Amino acid sequence: MAPPARRELPDRHLRPGDRLGAVADLVLVTTGSQAADFSTGSMTEAPSPRASGRAWALWERLAQGRTDFGNPDVFFGSARIPDSLWVTFTVTDTGTEFSNQIAALTGSESGRGGLLTLKDSGWVLSLSVFHQPEIIGQPPGTTVWWGYGLYPDRNGDFVGKRMDQCTGAEILEETLRQLRFDKQLDAIMASSICVPCYMPYVNNIWLPRSRGNKPPPVPEGATNLGLIGQYVEVPREIAFTIECSARTAWEAIHRLLKRGPAPPPVYQGQYDPKALFDTLKVFAGIG
Ligand SMILES: Cc1cc2nc3c(=O)[nH]c(=O)nc-3n(C[C@H](O)[C@H](O)[C@H](O)COP(=O)(O)OP(=O)(O)OC[C@H]3O[C@@H](n4cnc5c(N)ncnc54)[C@H](O)[C@@H]3O)c2cc1C
Repeated sequence: MAPPARRELPDRHLRPGDRLGAVADLVLVTTGSQAADFSTGSMTEAPSPRASGRAWALWERLAQGRTDFGNPDVFFGSARIPDSLWVTFTVTDTGTEFSNQIAALTGSESGRGGLLTLKDSGWVLSLSVFHQPEIIGQPPGTTVWWGYGLYPDRNGDFVGKRMDQCTGAEILEETLRQLRFDKQLDAIMASSICVPCYMPYVNNIWLPRSRGNKPPPVPEGATNLGLIGQYVEVPREIAFTIECSARTAWEAIHRLLKRGPAPPPVYQGQYDPKALFDTLKVFAGIG
């Protein structure tokens, strides 16, 4: 049987020449990504920035000349990068020196400690030593760990260069020296591959914004268009988390199709006595 004819959607948001699909279609647009325009380097090369703008190009077009689609310029574009950039790095290590030393330093075996922040390091480095294996198909005896610098525009204390201009080897050396693993440095460097990643928009979800800068999951009047992801406003939800993006999709689909359960209320930890007590214990040093 031939499929039913598709009728163009007369949507008030469409301009002459725009085609948004047919009445039977539901269009969900991820309006941007924290990973937009990321680039990777290697042990011997720093990542080269590549400004494509592809991740938010559709949002930019939708928002042009309209007020109810938010404002992508608050989050994306070269003016945002200085406040939004992190350099992250992933280390693959076939040796045991690093795992042994970090376990001895922190008192936690791999994957059992939290994020470790070297708060006095010039780049303000944080490290996460995963529960192994972290990657599907990771060979036994290989350890994967990850880190990032919040201030990649500052000079490292040991390598004396901006983090965003460093190779993977330089970032690894700076990190190991910050940890005072000087004696094990050569062995760890020899058994490790450190891949740096330039992420110009990773922090943009926490930049100052005003009401209306992020559009709602379903713009007013839209009947088959949902906006989803981190750059969509959901009252009381926190930016950054996977839960936040999933909720925008759930909300958009629920509002557009008008069926199925509504998303559950957003958890409000600040009113949860147990969460508050647990937090207090951490600050008091007894958690
Ligand atoms: C370093 C880092 C650490 C994180 N840690 C955590 C954590 O511990 N816990 C947590 O909850 N969240 C964490 N997050 C956040 C989490 O990754 C995001 O909340 C989540 O990935 C957002 O999902 P999304 O689908 O909205 O967008 P994304 O996962 O960013 O997906 C967007 C997709 O769109 C694609 N895309 C871009 N442009 C185009 C185009 N023009 N055409 C087609 N496709 C395109 C991209 O390739 C990408 O696949 C972290 C994020 C980063 C960067």
